[in-house]
Amino acid sequence: MKLNPKSLVRPLVEKLHAYVPGEQLKIKGIVKINTNENPYPPSVKVLNAVKAAVDGRLRLYPNPTAEPLREKLASLHKCKPENIIIGNGSDELLALATRTFVEPVSKRADSRSTVQYFTPSYSLYPVLADIHGAAVNPVPLAKDFALPSPALLRKEWMFDAALAFVTTPNAPGGHGYSTAELETLCRAHKGVIVLDEAYVDFARENAMALALKYPHVIVSRTFSKAYSLCFQRVGYFVGHPTLIDAMHKIRDSYNVNGLGQVAALATLSDLSYYRANFKKIIATRERLTVELTKLGFQVPPSQANFIFATPPAFAAEQWLEKLRQQKILIRWFNHPEIKNSLRISIGTDAEADALLRAVKKIIARFKGTKGTQGT
Ligand code: PMP
Repeated sequence: MKLNPKSLVRPLVEKLHAYVPGEQLKIKGIVKINTNENPYPPSVKVLNAVKAAVDGRLRLYPNPTAEPLREKLASLHKCKPENIIIGNGSDELLALATRTFVEPVSKRADSRSTVQYFTPSYSLYPVLADIHGAAVNPVPLAKDFALPSPALLRKEWMFDAALAFVTTPNAPGGHGYSTAELETLCRAHKGVIVLDEAYVDFARENAMALALKYPHVIVSRTFSKAYSLCFQRVGYFVGHPTLIDAMHKIRDSYNVNGLGQVAALATLSDLSYYRANFKKIIATRERLTVELTKLGFQVPPSQANFIFATPPAFAAEQWLEKLRQQKILIRWFNHPEIKNSLRISIGTDAEADALLRAVKKIIARFKGTKGTQGT
């Protein structure tokens, strides 16, 4: 039988460019500061809770709506469990939102079939729109990653787009937005607007109040970054019960694995441990910003657990390679608008020191070569 398997794949899928995650290299001794993971482990209470849950109960399905976790989050955010949906990481919820609120393009793209976001921001958003067959409206941020001017917004932003994603604080730029400026944007927007607060625990302000004040605003949070739980895949949305209910209708019945639910619940019982870690990460971020600036890097202020630095002497892509040779793994995005910069996750102080040592070595070698060439 002659069958071309390619002909079995939908043309839309055939043409898709999948999201490219950061590398998960397991090289011994590597300083892995490329995927914004938290350098500190989950709390002992969390590790013990997960270990205690590994027994014969693994044969059972987990709670289908992650109810105990939603109840605990509701009391934390002073809302009702009906305001909350838990996902297999917040990525799953961003995809669910696209499927819940956006019509795929049928004949012609219009506001009902449009996913909108700022650029640069999380590069998953356009991928989700493409998977769904939706249109996109990328709107450029100002140079320093601030929101565009009101005049530019009026020109470029589709105020009735079915779904808008706003990464706050911004990734990869690290720029933090005030709740007041986000509120102005939300009030003007008529479709659903998701404030993606994946990194908000490292920022000065958060916009949770807006999700509880406006029926079309959703706040997205994750246990991955600030709560050291990337491995377990737990994220959540907070929003109006009508929007949350609609999303519940289309999610998988058991979308959040049991051990993830256990780990996230235990996390909420030990918040002081995590808050101490936020402080350490913020202190390391500020030190690294100062030190790299002294070494000739341009580092805009960041309110996240990473910095976005434009390096001196060589192209950013070359820095990626040179640092990798020194066993330091950082992230470089091959997109025209951000390809001159490097995203560096904030690790421990020892990891920051290792990075600074490697950077100094690379710069010294560069100066050495230049010196030799000059003689
Ligand atoms: N939003 C942003 C802005 C992110 O950078 C990430 C992580 N890549 C996520 C959401 C998703 O995180 P998770 O699925 O681990 O919750």
